[in-house]
Amino acid sequence: MYPTVGGRRRSIAVTSLILAAIMTLCAVLTNRLLTGYLTSEFERQAREQAAIMAAGPSFRPIQNDADALKALLNEWQAISGARLALLDSTGRVTAASDAPRPESDPSNARPEAAAAPAAHEEADADLVQRVDPVTGQESLFITLPVAEGSPAVARLRFVLPMTGLNERLALLRNEVRGLAALAGLLLLTLSILHQERTAQTIRQLTDVADRITTGELSARILSLNTGDMGKLTRAFNRMAGELEREIQKQERGRDRLYTVMHVMADGVLILTRKGKVRMINPAAAALLHTNESTAEGRSFIQVVRDHRIAEVWQRCQERGEQEVAALELGPDRFLRIIVTPFLRGADRGYVVILQDLTRMRRLQTVRQDFVSNVSHELRTPLASLRALADTLRDGALDDPPAAIRFLDRMDVEVDSLTQLVEELFELVRIESGQVPLHLRRASVGSVAGGGAERLRAQADRKELKLTVAISEDLPDILVDPDRVQQVITNLVHNAVKFTPPKGSISVSAQRHTDEFIVVSVSDTGIGIPPDDLPRIFERFYKIDRARTSGGTGLGLAIAKHIVQSHGGAIWAESMPERGSIFYLTLPIFTSEEG
Ligand code: ADP
Repeated sequence: MYPTVGGRRRSIAVTSLILAAIMTLCAVLTNRLLTGYLTSEFERQAREQAAIMAAGPSFRPIQNDADALKALLNEWQAISGARLALLDSTGRVTAASDAPRPESDPSNARPEAAAAPAAHEEADADLVQRVDPVTGQESLFITLPVAEGSPAVARLRFVLPMTGLNERLALLRNEVRGLAALAGLLLLTLSILHQERTAQTIRQLTDVADRITTGELSARILSLNTGDMGKLTRAFNRMAGELEREIQKQERGRDRLYTVMHVMADGVLILTRKGKVRMINPAAAALLHTNESTAEGRSFIQVVRDHRIAEVWQRCQERGEQEVAALELGPDRFLRIIVTPFLRGADRGYVVILQDLTRMRRLQTVRQDFVSNVSHELRTPLASLRALADTLRDGALDDPPAAIRFLDRMDVEVDSLTQLVEELFELVRIESGQVPLHLRRASVGSVAGGGAERLRAQADRKELKLTVAISEDLPDILVDPDRVQQVITNLVHNAVKFTPPKGSISVSAQRHTDEFIVVSVSDTGIGIPPDDLPRIFERFYKIDRARTSGGTGLGLAIAKHIVQSHGGAIWAESMPERGSIFYLTLPIFTSEEG
């Protein structure tokens, strides 16, 4: 947490106190040093002056001349500024200079005192600092023996007022105090600036860290700081960069995994060591009838809700190796489950792959059904052929008219076998996309009408009324005419087959939508029971084998494939005993396609 305003104030107050204490100490010490030095220097100079005077000219010739003595002392006082006195060997004042008269202090004017020097003045101490009773000023008293004196003039007293020194000292003290205060203020300002800068960097660091936490990985600190703070911000930016790169790397990895899992057709679940679903892809969610958000975080058993699937995982967990199992989940649902343990450091867990085998099984069943249907369809004509051949061998050859009848029936069986094989071949080719469509612009009349007309002779033979009513105003269609004619022929052929004599069949066409024409083939035949109607387009589907006249059950399956490959649809409506209508839609030719 960066310093708050209160925290900063406290910190400034503490710094100020410390600085004030340090500066006061510095000022006191400096003053003491200065005072000591200047005082001793003052004393040294005074002593030197006094010594020069004491060692000066001989007093002896004028020792009894009070005026001459006084004149000399006054002269010296004028030079040195010190009050001077000569003492005899007993310490009594023999002569003294006039007392100084500082104008500034009238109280100092004590001429009488100067005229009559104090008899009690001491002469013993060499150097004493005390108040001069004559001037009333703090002064330095120096008493020295006179070099060439006499008993009357034995010592010289040098009394130098310390006013000048004290004034200088007071001035210097003030200067030192002022400088200390200035330096203190300067240091305080620098310290506050430094603290503020540090606080600002900390605020930025906190702010950027917060932004990174909320996902703004590119957030960085713009700092011109040098020194430790600069190092810290640079280290922080480096760390943020590393973090961003690492997170981006992880995100890329996760995206790749996510994409792979989402495009996989197989169901995939990633489980933790304890069997919690960490990830589930949409295919697995669909297979298990759940959704990703519900499943994630729940236990595998809760998600699959099937003890058999859970058991496969439990086996894998116990044995530590891949387990594979195929399960039948419902009446028509098959699932293969593969559980593989992955053991990478702390990231241990399991990958579960669920493969929906339902479609594969259904295809297998369709293939099996197809084979059994084909064998069944082949078995009937082959059995007939065998029976006819056996009959011929067993004696029918001896009866030529019967033999010819049998041979005719064998012809019929061979024809139906041939038709079956041809239709099968056709269906397989169409279903595998091996029959290319030759799309052309054609009129509905030529295609649908042409297909119907092929059956006119058969319809006439059965006394069926075949009507083709197709308006010439209808737009042209874009189809493979041969294939579509084949479909129409097939539908009309069925109508002829399933309509009793005297019935009628009609082929007509209308515009269905902007893009399609609908062609209908209706009859007044036996109709199709509602239960069978949805299945008549399946391969080999025949309604009631007894009523069919040798069909293979493949015609409508082939028709459906051809119509669908044109982008159209085919369907039927029917009422048993009343008749059926088959509809098919065909694409209208547009100028763009031309
Ligand atoms: P098939 O070659 O046996 O005719 P299709 O696939 O053409 O086979 O027809 C499947 C079945 O649909 C036929 O067996 C028949 O029972 C029924 N069916 C088809 N068309 C008609 C129709 N117009 N009227 C009544 N039943 C029909």
